Amino acid sequence: MTNQANRVIYLDNNATTRVAPEVLEAMLPYLTDLYGNPSSMHTFGGQVGSAVREARERVARFIGCEPDEVIFTSCGTESDSTAILSALRANPERRHIITTRIEHPAVKNLCENIATLTGHKYRVTMLKVNEEGLIDMDEYLDALSEDTAVVSVMWANNETGVILPVEEMARLAKERGIFFHTDAVQAAGKIPINLRELAIDYLSMSGHKLHAPKGIGVLYVRRGTPYVPFLAGGHQEHGRRAGTENVASIVGLGRACQLADEKLVEENSRVKALRDRLEDGLLQTIPRSLLNGHRIERLPNTCNISFEYVEGESILLHMNRHGICASSGSACTSGSLEPSHVLRAMGVPFTAAHGSIRFSLSVYNTAEEIDFVLEKMPEIIARLRQMSPFWPGD
Ligand SMILES: *Cc1c(COP(=O)(O)O)cnc(C)c1O
Repeated sequence: MTNQANRVIYLDNNATTRVAPEVLEAMLPYLTDLYGNPSSMHTFGGQVGSAVREARERVARFIGCEPDEVIFTSCGTESDSTAILSALRANPERRHIITTRIEHPAVKNLCENIATLTGHKYRVTMLKVNEEGLIDMDEYLDALSEDTAVVSVMWANNETGVILPVEEMARLAKERGIFFHTDAVQAAGKIPINLRELAIDYLSMSGHKLHAPKGIGVLYVRRGTPYVPFLAGGHQEHGRRAGTENVASIVGLGRACQLADEKLVEENSRVKALRDRLEDGLLQTIPRSLLNGHRIERLPNTCNISFEYVEGESILLHMNRHGICASSGSACTSGSLEPSHVLRAMGVPFTAAHGSIRFSLSVYNTAEEIDFVLEKMPEIIARLRQMSPFWPGD
C-alpha cells in the first residue's frame, strides 16, 4: 500500500539534497548560452569568469573568509583528500595524524590508506567517542605531539548530527603549530560558520548537501597556510586546482550559499521543531526505541533512532512502500550486516545498532509529512517485531 498521491517524503537530506529551484535557475544560462571558458581572453569567456568570481565571493561571505581563500573542487571527498595530503606534504618531517573514529569514509579511509600505503611511516590516532558521540578533550590533548602534522575532525557527524567542538580543538592545535582541517560538509547551512574568528586552516564543503548539484565542492585554505595542490595541470584556481572550472555548478553553489545563509534561521527554528516533533513522537509511541547521539550538541535537522530487535534494512523497505526515504545505520551497501562504524564507536549495542534509522530533514519538509511518518512508523515496527524471533515482547 502506498500513500495516495504516490508522493515522496524525503527525509534523507544528509545523503543528498534536492537542487533548489533558485539554484537551477542561476545555473541554466551557463549550461546553454554562456558556455565560454572562464580562462579565455575574449569577452564571451570573460563574462563567465565574472560569474565564477561572483560565486567565489558568495561562498566567502557565507563562511566568513576572503574570496582568495576559496578553492572550487569536484566534491567534499576531493576537498578532504586535498587538505590532509597538502598538510602532510608541507610538513614532511612530521609523521602523525589525529582524527576521530566517527569520520566520514572520505577522511577515515584516506587516513587508513596513508598509514598502510606508506608501510606505517605515518601513525594515525583515531580519537574515541563516548556513548553520546562526543570526544574526550583530555585524550585529544594527550595525542597532540611535536610529530603531529595535521588534525582532521569533522564539524558535525553525518549519521547522528552530533556537533564536535572544532573551534576549541583548532585553537589547541594552532597553539602547538599543528595544522587543523575540518570536514564541514554536514555543518554548512545548518549552523553558522565564521572562519575569520577561528583557528581552522582547512575546511571542506560539498554542494549536494546544500541544495546545489552533485559534483562540486569547496576547500577553504587560510591565507598563509602552506598548500600543495592535489591535481597538477593548468593554472585554474590560481594554480591551486587544475582542470577547467565546472562553471554552472560553481554558479549554483554560490547561489546555494546565499540561500543557505537566508534560511539558517528557519533551519534552526521550523526545521528543528519538525525534527523534534518527529523524534519525540517516535520515542513516545514506539516501545524500545532509543535516540543515538547527544540530544543537545546536534544539528537541527538530524535524528538517529534505534528500534531494538528489528533490521534497519527491513524498516527502510517498509517505509519505502509509503514513499518515505531515510537511511539505516547498517552497511547495506557492502552486503554485510556490520553496523555502522559510527554507532560501533559509540558502543551502541548490537541489537540496537542493527535497527537504527537516520531521519534527516530540510527546509522543504512540512508538518503534514512528519505527521504521516508518525502515523506509519509504529505499525511498521510492530509488524516487523511480530516476525522477529528475537523480539522479547512489549
Ligand atoms: C557527503 C559527505 C562527504 C562527501 O562529500 P561528496 O561531495 O559526496 O564527496 C564528506 N563528509 C561528510 C561528513 C559527508 O556527509
